[in-house]
Amino acid sequence: MNIKYLASLLFVIWLCLPGFSQNLLVKGGWVFDTSSKSFLPNSEVYIQNGLFVDQFNGSAGWQTLDLSKEDYILPGLIDLHAHYRVSYANKAYDDTLAMPKIFLANGITSTFPAGEIEPEKMWDLQQEIDAGKRPGPRILHSGPYFGTAAPDWNPDFTEKDIRDRVDYWAARGALGFKAKGITAAHLAILIDQAHKQNLTVTGHLNSGYRNSVNPQEALEMGIDRIEHFLGGRLLADSIDAYQSLKQLDPLDPRLAEIISIYLEKDAYLDATLGTYGAIGMVDSPVFEDWANENQYLTPFARKLVEAMKPSSFNELCALIYPVKQGTLLRYYKAGGLITVGTDRPLLLDNYLGAGIGGFFIHREMAAMVEIGIPAGEVLYYATQQNAEAFGIADRAGSISSGKWGDLMIMKGNPVDDINRTRSVHTVIRGGKVFNSKELLESAKGKLGPES
Ligand SMILES: [Zn+2]
Repeated sequence: MNIKYLASLLFVIWLCLPGFSQNLLVKGGWVFDTSSKSFLPNSEVYIQNGLFVDQFNGSAGWQTLDLSKEDYILPGLIDLHAHYRVSYANKAYDDTLAMPKIFLANGITSTFPAGEIEPEKMWDLQQEIDAGKRPGPRILHSGPYFGTAAPDWNPDFTEKDIRDRVDYWAARGALGFKAKGITAAHLAILIDQAHKQNLTVTGHLNSGYRNSVNPQEALEMGIDRIEHFLGGRLLADSIDAYQSLKQLDPLDPRLAEIISIYLEKDAYLDATLGTYGAIGMVDSPVFEDWANENQYLTPFARKLVEAMKPSSFNELCALIYPVKQGTLLRYYKAGGLITVGTDRPLLLDNYLGAGIGGFFIHREMAAMVEIGIPAGEVLYYATQQNAEAFGIADRAGSISSGKWGDLMIMKGNPVDDINRTRSVHTVIRGGKVFNSKELLESAKGKLGPES
């Protein structure tokens, strides 16, 4: 075999490696226009070496994807509260087998794991996905939780311990942090050190009850985003936030105070609205199971889920859901900044209602549209606004030259019916084309413990 032949053979093998990012031309169909928040006829979208480019750059090796007039192209969805966590028998782990495929198949090309249980394992997953060795979305690495939600958290951590923890995970590629079960003193240090690293912080906080932090206090400290609920002084610090929330009147004039603080601070609310409806087992088309999601569970996990009985937490969430709907609508009307996150870990000890991560982003968007937020707005939140909130708008969120070549393609215009995002059939990540059906097929029966 001569050297020339060997070289060209090696080149062909290299082209076939999954890590090779193709030069892709996507033609036809409709494409989301981020400025008008609507779809326009698509002439051509180019992805070269994994990034969007303005035009065809001469060289050979372009693959063309021809779309029909029923096809609608959206920048890849970003899930800012995308747990990979599975808990069973009071033990938790991050699932790296099924969840990456399920997220990607649903059009989610970037995930913020919102507190990793096994950050080292998530790091390995990220490396393998980025190298093209296995399918999955980008992991916007969060590192471990900051607060008692982390198995290794010590309430006696010193200021230096917290700053070192931030620096260590920032050096390991964390792109943002999440606090849960944190004290005010520790949170202030976390925010300060993360901002020194140019990284954002979000928090699952509380009312102020039992040494917890109310979102209002965190906003004064400069936190970037808040998960789940607005907070504010309307929540009594003598009881847990959820107990307080269930009796809150979304029309209470005093809510204006906390909303104005979000506006003043340019802070984002990740309402995770849908998960409360699912946990509360609310009867709405938003929560229907269109994809038979239990088929992705292992036979063992499926049996556990099917035998689960609702608890008082499910009843509590049923009361909280309408309050959350009302407050989110009010926050939206006031001009509040909203992000999209799902918050659907697979908990096999507590019943969280039906619906698993990945699929759930379609419910989250539909839940927002159901309360009266226009669908075009919601699609903008799940793409460009999420990228801005996370501080990666230079890399993600829209189809613009130099950004990651990430897209999802669905049938029908989701601005007319948000449920059409469920019809996603093709997902492109860094110019590489994935078939949703094939990804889902390979995830069947894989999520959860085997025994
Ligand atoms: Zn969560």
